[in-house]
Amino acid sequence: MNLRIPGPVTVPDDILNVAGNQMIDHRGPQFAAMQRRIINNLNACFQTKNDVLLFTASGTGGLESAIVNTLSPGDPVLAFVAGEFGERIARIAQTYGANVNKIKFENGQGIDPDRVAQELKNAPQTKAVLVTHNETSTGIMHPLQAIANAVRANSDAVLIVDGVSSMLTADAQIDAWGIDVMVSASQKAWACPPGVAMLSVSERAWKMHANAKTPRFYFDWTETKSWLEKGQTPFTPAVSVYYALDLALEKILAEGLQNVFARHARIAALTREQAKSLGFRMFGDERYASNAVTALYAPDGVDTEALRKIAREEYDLIIGGGQGPMRGKIIRIGHLGWVSEAEIHDCFAVIGHILEKVTA
Ligand code: PLP
Repeated sequence: MNLRIPGPVTVPDDILNVAGNQMIDHRGPQFAAMQRRIINNLNACFQTKNDVLLFTASGTGGLESAIVNTLSPGDPVLAFVAGEFGERIARIAQTYGANVNKIKFENGQGIDPDRVAQELKNAPQTKAVLVTHNETSTGIMHPLQAIANAVRANSDAVLIVDGVSSMLTADAQIDAWGIDVMVSASQKAWACPPGVAMLSVSERAWKMHANAKTPRFYFDWTETKSWLEKGQTPFTPAVSVYYALDLALEKILAEGLQNVFARHARIAALTREQAKSLGFRMFGDERYASNAVTALYAPDGVDTEALRKIAREEYDLIIGGGQGPMRGKIIRIGHLGWVSEAEIHDCFAVIGHILEKVTA
C-alpha cells in the first residue's frame, strides 16, 4: 500500500517491530528510563528547555489539554483560522467557555503576521493566541516565526500552537521564537502509530495554568508533571507507542534535525513538481506550501473522488480528499515521515495512469 494521507503515516518496519514488544510494568524502572529518554529527545526535537508532557491521546487531546490548562471560562482569546484545524482549536476553546474572537483567512492563504500584530494591539487584554502551524486541510505552512514575533512584540498572551502535522517537517524553535505551548502527535512526522500526544509548556503557560479555572481531570498538567517526576504517568500509558517513539526519536536525532527538515522540504518539492507535470494546480498560496502535505486542484474535468476511489481500489494508493468546504474539490498528498522519492514517483505514475479514465 502507498499510504499518501497526511497521517497516520506508514511506520517503518523497525519501529513497527518494537511496537510489538511485550508489555512492561508502567510503574517500574524500565518504563521510567524509557519515558525519561523520550522526553529528553523530544526536548531536542522541540528545540526547547521547557517542560515536555506526554498524554495517551491523539493530537486533539493534546490541543484540548492546552486549552483547559491555561484558560478560564470567559477569557478573551484570539484564534487565527485558515482552515479546518484552525477551526477545531477555536471550537475547543469555545466549548470550554473562552470568549473566542476568530480572525479568519481564506482557505489556502497564509496567516498574515501584520494582522496578528494589529489584532493584538486592538485587544490588549487577550489571554491566549491560537495558531495552527501547518494547516493540514489546505496544505499551508503558516509563517510561524513571524507570527510568534508579532505576538511577543505586542502581547503577554500565551501562544498556543497546533504543531500536530508540522513538527519535524520544518524548523520550529520553541524557545528562540517564544512559543508557549506546542502540540504534536505520534502518528504524524514522528512516524509512529497513533496514541501519544506530546506538548511543550513554557514558564508563561505554567503561570497561566496556576490560575486557570477550566475544569479538567485526565489532561491536568500539574498532575501529569508530578507523575512524570516519579518516572510514571497518572494513568495507563500507550506503552506500545512509547516503544515506537523511543526508537523513532533515536533515529531522528541520529539523522539530525536539520537533515530531517531538509528531507521533508525535498520530498515536498518533488511532490509539487510531479503534480504540476500532470496538470494539477496548487490549491493554496505556494509561498507557504507545506512540507507535510500538498493540496491540489485536479486538471479541468477530473472527478477527484472517482480518482481517489480507483487509486484505492485498483492500485492500493490512498490519497487524501478535501475536508469541510474543500470536500470533492481538491486532493491532498501526504509526505510527512520517512517518505521515499520512489513512493512519490509511484504515486504520480498511478495518478497519471488513472487521469485518462476519470477525465470527462
Ligand atoms: N491538528 C492538525 C493540524 C492535524 O493535522 C490533525 C490531524 O490530522 C489534528 C490537529 C488532529 O489530530 P488527531 O487526529 O491526532 O486528534
